[in-house]
Amino acid sequence: MLVHKGDELFMITPKLFNRETKWEGVVPKKKIDSILDGYDLNNITIATLCSHSSLQIFHGARKMGFRTLGIAISHDTKYYDAFPLAKPDSIVRYDNFDDMVKGIEELYANNVIVIPHGSFIEYMGPRRFEDYAVPVYCNRAVLNWEFDRDMERRWLISAGVSMPRVFTDAKEISEPVMVKYYGAKGGRGYFIAKDYPDFKMSIDSTMSYSIQEYCLGTRYYLHFFYSPLKDEGYKLNRGGSLELLSIDRRDESNIDEVYKLGSIEDAKRHGLYPSFVVTGNTPAVLRESLLPKAFKMAENVVERSYELFGGMWGPFCLETVVNDRLEFKVFEISTRIVAGTNPFISGSPYADLIYPGLSTGGRISLEIRNAIKQCRIKDIMT
Ligand code: AMP
Repeated sequence: MLVHKGDELFMITPKLFNRETKWEGVVPKKKIDSILDGYDLNNITIATLCSHSSLQIFHGARKMGFRTLGIAISHDTKYYDAFPLAKPDSIVRYDNFDDMVKGIEELYANNVIVIPHGSFIEYMGPRRFEDYAVPVYCNRAVLNWEFDRDMERRWLISAGVSMPRVFTDAKEISEPVMVKYYGAKGGRGYFIAKDYPDFKMSIDSTMSYSIQEYCLGTRYYLHFFYSPLKDEGYKLNRGGSLELLSIDRRDESNIDEVYKLGSIEDAKRHGLYPSFVVTGNTPAVLRESLLPKAFKMAENVVERSYELFGGMWGPFCLETVVNDRLEFKVFEISTRIVAGTNPFISGSPYADLIYPGLSTGGRISLEIRNAIKQCRIKDIMT
């Protein structure tokens, strides 16, 4: 990945991953398969970290008849008492994430399958996730392609997806840009610059950053689900079926409200700088005529994932901006269940046309149920 530091441009390759197209993490696929061989598939427990979209994941798993297990580190889990239909059947608590990686024996005894969500790998760290020898519902190989922004870009652009233009030299800024500090999480520390002097004024040149076109338009976070097991609905050339389960828009503090103070410049004069920190989510729908384009993008991204690294399956989110020419720009892909699916715990305007009342969490458990029925559980676990 190319990042700036001061006036210099560096190539950074995250050390956690190699650039092979195959997953070469510490846990080989055959180890996961042998763990699954030892499982009682009629007695599976669905587990996830107690955060993010866990209410939805547990609620959905319970609906599909699975037992549920919450994994907690420092998490306050009392809030589950307020939501009995989503409270996990049991909770396992570790002192820290290193202990969590070591404490897997008891998970095997309970035939545990782990659902990684947006915060799961972020909190745990990709390195520990590599070592986590428990069957997880995702292709671990996707992490290489998601966490390295260059590789992510290569994947999406080669799938024909339009992405924000990247600036390699801040002096070339000739339009509003978004500056993203390397490793910044959840939009924290991002800033908008309209030209080079504006950029110079705001940049912290001790940190690494990347610069991309600011995409003006309306944001839509499209929650897709690809099932390699299903052969009806919106079929893909390679087989399997693509579903759109819901769409949200993120609430971001304070950019969503800063206009109340007048212009961003006015706010800055008072020492108040715009930020993009996600605080919640609201439901959205797309105008219907945009749906064909949305499906085509997602279809191409899935097809390409199989060519590049053996595939992405299950829930994923295309984070998009639609401009006034009705064109999509994708600024990010998330390859797991996103918290933007939380408003749809009892269905959505889209999910209701496929599985009335089912959330993405429920859809995940349905997929696991179907995989067990079809004797294909190993096809969707790594
Ligand atoms: P991200 O961490 O990439 O999901 O970005 C956090 C937030 O920053 C997004 O939800 C958007 O509101 C905003 N954002 C990121 N990239 C862009 C972009 N290129 N143009 C406009 N807004 C962006």
